[in-house]
Amino acid sequence: MLIGLSGGICAGKHAVAEYLIQHQGFRLLELKNNGVSHTARDPRLQHINLTINQDSRLEFDTAESLLDFATKRWQEHWVTTHSWNVATLDRFLQRPFFLLVSVDAPVSLRWKRFAERCEKNQLEAPHLEEFVLWNDKQLYEKNVGRAVLTDRAQLRLFNSSSSLDELHAALKALNLADEQRLRPNWDQYFMELASLAAQRSNCMKRRVGCVLVRERRVISTGYNGTPRHLQNCNEGGCPRCNRGEGGGVGLSTCLCLHAEENALLEAGRERIREGSILYCDTCPCLTCTVKIAQVGISEVVYSQGYNMDKDSAAILEAAGIRLRQFSPPRNGLIYLEDPEGK
Ligand SMILES: [Zn+2]
Ligand SMILES: [Zn+2]
Ligand SMILES: [Zn+2]
Repeated sequence: MLIGLSGGICAGKHAVAEYLIQHQGFRLLELKNNGVSHTARDPRLQHINLTINQDSRLEFDTAESLLDFATKRWQEHWVTTHSWNVATLDRFLQRPFFLLVSVDAPVSLRWKRFAERCEKNQLEAPHLEEFVLWNDKQLYEKNVGRAVLTDRAQLRLFNSSSSLDELHAALKALNLADEQRLRPNWDQYFMELASLAAQRSNCMKRRVGCVLVRERRVISTGYNGTPRHLQNCNEGGCPRCNRGEGGGVGLSTCLCLHAEENALLEAGRERIREGSILYCDTCPCLTCTVKIAQVGISEVVYSQGYNMDKDSAAILEAAGIRLRQFSPPRNGLIYLEDPEGK
């Protein structure tokens, strides 16, 4: 795999790279002119980067040659911190072995880190205001600003850790090298399809999505809402849902079909056979559970709990249906803090 790290001044991208190199067998791929950017004109910015162990570094003339090199060796572990532009990044993101990770930290903390490093190098530290202006430029400058990269990053690390030890502990717990970040496994794939289906829901109470699978093929999908030809729930179609009462209250007067019901109806009983798996982003309610049992589903996988999980679990168990919880790996914004919470 190739991990691309993007991050603001003193956010910690080099510290993350260093961790991957020291502890997870990564090697560094860099461009010869890396770091020459609009902000690098100030000599202080050229001196303060953590120097990464030179032995593990390989240098390339162009981003293309770096990518070609990694493509031929993608099963090994590579990391790069070079400054991206959008066109280059797009080429990297097309490859199935590439993971873009952004690293950020509060600007006040980054300024403090920067000032400390200036002091160590006997350079005069900038005032906070000057530092903020550099950062604004680096983040928002048209076409080269880092904001676009952060937006595309699969993982956004927020490095609020107060020490390298704390950062390392958090990175260890996170395990960036987990191959599942590159390519979802089957559970993750179907659960994400269920979450996508949930986005089509029109039910005022709660968005739920479901996918029925047999032999790793999708048989049907469903989301909750009022039946066809009836007004959508979010347009007032179900008076019960629109009253906004607590979960489970007045269920018998609800006109909305549940995601599981819709997926089961869509599939039809003859297509659901032994070995079928129902993926649902929410644990099925009691009325869905009995239907699931009746049509011959073998396994139910859910990601979030609901308010009758225990009762549903008891019914599924009695019906001989496996039930398990699966939550996809954490993505998006992740706080890098001591996992023990010390
Ligand atoms: Zn509804
Ligand atoms: Zn309803
Ligand atoms: Zn239900």
